[in-house]
Amino acid sequence: MQPRRPTRPIYVGDQRVGIIQIGGGLPRQSPARQAWIPESGAPTALAPVSVQTMTAGYTHDVESCVAEIHKLAAAGADIVRVAVPEKKDTEALREILPRVRVPIVADVHFHFQRALEAVEAGVHKIRLNPGNINDRAQVIDVIQACKAKGLPIRVGVNEGSIIERRDKQKRMKELGQVFSDHKHGYLLAIMITKLEEYLDIFYEQDFHDIAISAKSMDAQIVIDAYTEISKRFEHPLHLGVTHAGPKETGTIRSVVALGGLLINGIGDTVRISYANDPVYEVQDGLELLYCLGLRERIGVDLIACPTCGRIQVDLFTLIQDVRTALAAKVVVPMKVAVMGCIVNGPGEAEGADVAVFAGDRRGIIYVQGQKVANVPEEEILERLLAECLKFQDDVRAGRAKLGEKKVEIIPPDPIGELGSGFEKIAAGNVEKRVTLPVATRG
Ligand code: SF4
Repeated sequence: MQPRRPTRPIYVGDQRVGIIQIGGGLPRQSPARQAWIPESGAPTALAPVSVQTMTAGYTHDVESCVAEIHKLAAAGADIVRVAVPEKKDTEALREILPRVRVPIVADVHFHFQRALEAVEAGVHKIRLNPGNINDRAQVIDVIQACKAKGLPIRVGVNEGSIIERRDKQKRMKELGQVFSDHKHGYLLAIMITKLEEYLDIFYEQDFHDIAISAKSMDAQIVIDAYTEISKRFEHPLHLGVTHAGPKETGTIRSVVALGGLLINGIGDTVRISYANDPVYEVQDGLELLYCLGLRERIGVDLIACPTCGRIQVDLFTLIQDVRTALAAKVVVPMKVAVMGCIVNGPGEAEGADVAVFAGDRRGIIYVQGQKVANVPEEEILERLLAECLKFQDDVRAGRAKLGEKKVEIIPPDPIGELGSGFEKIAAGNVEKRVTLPVATRG
């Protein structure tokens, strides 16, 4: 991991919904308009990388919009963006904003008036697209409105919307030379040129509370674009892949691009996006940050074996049930392992605070290396949950410490205990395994 790149931080939110700092490490350049924002020139610390998402429903449907924002905040979203394509959407913000407890960003395209209306309604940040709001006077109006209220603006140059189609071929040829070493040099050049031109308007207005995004559906372009932008601008970067596709492939597309950038210290806030419930986007964004050590985990770190021909219980179902049950009740970042058998399970689960190893339709449960139960398959979930909750209580009361392995896990003798033939398999006599009572996946 490379150290995080320092940026000039922005602040999203207010005292009621909470304030999320994006970026940091460099002093701000604008006067502070709220008490919670450092003054211009004051040093700032880097904030943890935040997770954003966007509502999927209509903003003007107030009840369902509020419900969706609550759901996304409960899933762990630090900031939620809403679309405001029509006046009825910005009008709805007046009802929505007092009812939610997470900073809200208005996503504005084509109509600069929507940005002014959203600012007036009390939104916490504006997103502008230089590809479709580029009239200088209109941009200045939005900048001045945000400046008056101390609101930050994200400038988002999506690949699909920034190409000036009338002279596309000409510009591709001209600008491609600038990045001739990059596969997509012309596109990078257009994105950066567009950003420079657009941000000049902001700087002329002495406005510096800016975040930048440069999304594409191509993971390689995303990596190249943000890398180049990070060399040229000191503003925090909002990472994302746009039009990433369905969840199954969109997750991979996003994680490849965003993970690659974050490993190189680039990125201050992330949005994983794909065509599915945005709750999954939040969960995946958080998991990405947990895996990279960029956020402190809340809740269980679930380890599970991929299963193989030694499987002893219906592990796929068990893992999903365990995940759902623990997500609802465990907030302590304990490591929980669910292993399909006792052959490799103990080694693979090493370091887990709570572990279950399956054998012949039973489960042996360990808490920090000590065996606490041996139960039939149908009781594994309930007992595992009970042990996790008890361990959570012990951690909170100071009776146990996370990651402290008291006793080395020694695989039990399954001949006596589980009857799965562990000794024979361990001895290398694996052919005999087929004659043993191996359970199916149910
Ligand atoms: S724990 Fe057992 S069932 Fe799971 S992958 Fe390892 S050997 Fe296979």
